Order: sequence, then structure tokens, then C-alpha cells
Amino acid sequence: MVFAILGGGFAGLAAARELDKRLPKKPSYEIVLIDRHSYTTMLPSLPDVAGRRVEPDRVKEAITSQLPKRVRFIKEAVEYVDFSTRTIQMGDTELVYDQLIFAPGSRANFYNHSAQFQKNLKLDNLDDAIMIRDSFARALFNVEHLNVVISGGGFTGMEVASNLYRYAGFLERSCSIYVVDRNRTILPALGDKRSNYIMEQMSRLGFQFILDTEVSDYADQTVVLNTGEKIHDAFFVWCSGVKLAIPARGHQQQIRDDRIIVDSFLRIPEHPEVFVAGDAAAVKAGDTYLRRAVNFAAMSGKIAARNAVAALQGKNLKRFKPIDLGWVIPLYTTSVGEAFGMKTQGRIGIPLHYLMCGIKNYNAKNISSYAGYAIKFSFARPFRKYTGD
Ligand SMILES: Cc1cc2nc3c(=O)[nH]c(=O)nc-3n(C[C@H](O)[C@H](O)[C@H](O)COP(=O)(O)OP(=O)(O)OC[C@H]3O[C@@H](n4cnc5c(N)ncnc54)[C@H](O)[C@@H]3O)c2cc1C
Repeated sequence: MVFAILGGGFAGLAAARELDKRLPKKPSYEIVLIDRHSYTTMLPSLPDVAGRRVEPDRVKEAITSQLPKRVRFIKEAVEYVDFSTRTIQMGDTELVYDQLIFAPGSRANFYNHSAQFQKNLKLDNLDDAIMIRDSFARALFNVEHLNVVISGGGFTGMEVASNLYRYAGFLERSCSIYVVDRNRTILPALGDKRSNYIMEQMSRLGFQFILDTEVSDYADQTVVLNTGEKIHDAFFVWCSGVKLAIPARGHQQQIRDDRIIVDSFLRIPEHPEVFVAGDAAAVKAGDTYLRRAVNFAAMSGKIAARNAVAALQGKNLKRFKPIDLGWVIPLYTTSVGEAFGMKTQGRIGIPLHYLMCGIKNYNAKNISSYAGYAIKFSFARPFRKYTGD
């Protein structure tokens, strides 16, 4: 009997530990975890890596060091999964499972843009963050004044923008920051009042918001907007939406952003031997769906695994009841967030962000580094004279 886990992120690792705990320790029960990387990543720290605030080693940990001994790890990139035939396709090989925990997270969605456009910088993983960091440093020294254009005013876009702004100041180079978004506001889920607060704060640093507008193309360091306007000497990063990291074939239902609809036990109703966890799952939360978050990923991984074992043993399944501890979006010298149901904004969110990343960060060395960041970055001062305004 093969229990496969697809993805070694927060959800997949939590699932592996739970399967190990609940499955009888017999050779007939095999647990396999597949990931394209040999390491797991603290994704909320990627914008810090892109802005050279945090070193790459502080955001990753070997997957095998996090797995119980009996779990077999396969390092392979999965092309697709077919729920109808219960197969996971990896290059020339395939794995047939009996029960699956599907937890591959998400990746950038370029929608209908060309294959060439899809080569633009994005922030899916640690390699992307390092690529942004290094090419940004080079770009800053190639022109007198660089125009940073971020497509997407969601949390990733805003965090990338503020980290690159800081990095340019640190290197004493001049740049302008443009955030382009198709909506009429940034961070629309926060409501007008809080979005306006962030726009006001960031405008003081010289950020410019181009709203109700989309990026149509980027070539030869020139960004073309759908209004026909062009931004030259541009450094461009795409942060405009995500989709399921691994294409899934089968009879499952998916919502507009690609996440798979599950029942309250995290099971795909059309494929009851598949449980979905983390960013890949569309979990109903009132009128909407649960946001993507580390805590929900870890909690859902655990419940998905517990239910996969219970289903096999004919026992009652447990409903997934997520506990929301809050969230924070750090933005260089300010932040916006919610902790234990209370709204927060301003500098207070900055140490909260680093403390959260530290607590979840796999080993003692990383945790202590993050405690240091929490103190150091809470007192950051803007590099005003380098904004170019
Ligand atoms: C820039 C950024 C900032 C964020 N900030 C916050 C924050 O402040 N607070 C918060 O709570 N959440 C934040 N999130 C969201 C949070 O990181 C995710 O909700 C969480 O990581 C989801 O966990 P997961 O296990 O579902 O997926 P992931 O952590 O994405 O893990 C998925 C795993 O699947 C693997 N995988 C993907 N595709 C393949 C493939 N084809 N083949 C094999 N393996 C594959 C990946 O390598 C990865 O290890 C942020 C996310 C990003 C990108």
C-alpha cells in the first residue's frame, strides 16, 4: 500500500510526520514524499532574500532532515498527476499510489502571455529570489537611474517592491518604483482604508502606483503598458497571480485561481483516495476561500494525513477547522496585518514578520538569526536621498 505525498513544503512535511505516527509500522505500508528540490523553503522570507536582507541559507533546510526515517524521499520534478489513474508522472518514470496527499503549493500564473514573456523574473522559489537579487544589483549599476516595475500590487508584489527599494538605497543607487495593478487599488482584500494607508506610506518613499492598468510586454529593458505607455530603463518582476504548481488531471473541480475544491475533510469528492493540503486546496471560509498561509498549510497537512489513514481503516474522518492566528505584510519601514483578531499597522508588524519566520524555521541557528533580524530591521530608516524624487 503506497501513501504518496506530493510536495515537501509546510503541508507535505506535516503530512509525512502524521502518516508516520498513524500508520502501522509494517513493511506493507510505504510512505513516499516527492519534491523537485532537496530542501524545503521558508517562502515568506523570499522577498527578504531578493532584497539581500536575509541570506539564502537561512531560509532552507534539507527535506530529509525533516522527515521521519521510514519515509522514502524522491527528488524529482513532477510533470503532472492523474487522479483517474492514480499516477504521478516524473519524466520517464511514474509512481502509482493507493492514497495521495496532494500538497505542491503554487507557482506564478502568466495567464495568456507568450512563452518568451513567461521567462521574466518571478518569485516562486529560492532560485528565483537569488536571481532577482543578483540581476537587480547588476541592473542598478548599468544605468544612471533604474525604473523598477512590479506587476501586481498583492502581498508578494508589495514586499518585493519594498525590499528592492531598500536594497537600492543600501547600494547607494538611484531608482524609482512603479507598482502596476489591473485593480483600482493595491491589496484589495484589505479594504479601501488599509490599502490607502499603505499607498500613502509608500508614496512618501517615492513609490508610484499605476492602477487599472496591465503590463502587456517587457523587452529591451522597456515595459509596455496596455495604455500604450512605455517605461524605459526598467527592471521588471512579475507578481500578478498564482496557479497550482502541478497540473492535475481527473474529475476534480477547481476554482478560478486553480485551487482544488475539497470537502470539509480535505478530500476530493470525485477522487476519495486523494486529500489536498496547503496552497493547493480551496477550503471554504464563509463566503470566500481560505487564504494561502503557512499555518493553514501545516494544519491542513496534518489533518489530510490523519484522514487518509482513517479512511483506509474505515474510521470517522476529522473536519478541518483552521485556527487563524493572523497575518502581517512587512513593507520596509511599515506594515499592515492582523494578530489574534486585532488589526495592526506600522513598525510593530516588522518584528512580528521575522519572529513568525523564525519560529517556523526548521533549526536553532535559523531561529536565532531571525530573532536578530526582528530587532535589527524594526529600526530601519528610509534611504530618502536615493529615491530619485
Ligand atoms: C513571497 C511569499 C510570501 C509569503 N508570505 C507569507 C507570510 O508572511 N505568512 C504566511 O502565513 N504565508 C505566506 N506565504 C504563503 C505561504 O508561504 C504558503 O501558504 C505556504 O508555503 C504553503 O505551503 P504548501 O506546503 O502548500 O506549499 P509550498 O510551501 O509551496 O511547498 C510546495 C512544495 O512542492 C514542491 N513542488 C512544487 N512543484 C513541484 C513539482 N513540479 N515537482 C515536485 N515538487 C514540486 C516545491 O518544491 C515545494 O517544496 C507567502 C508566500 C510567498 C510566495
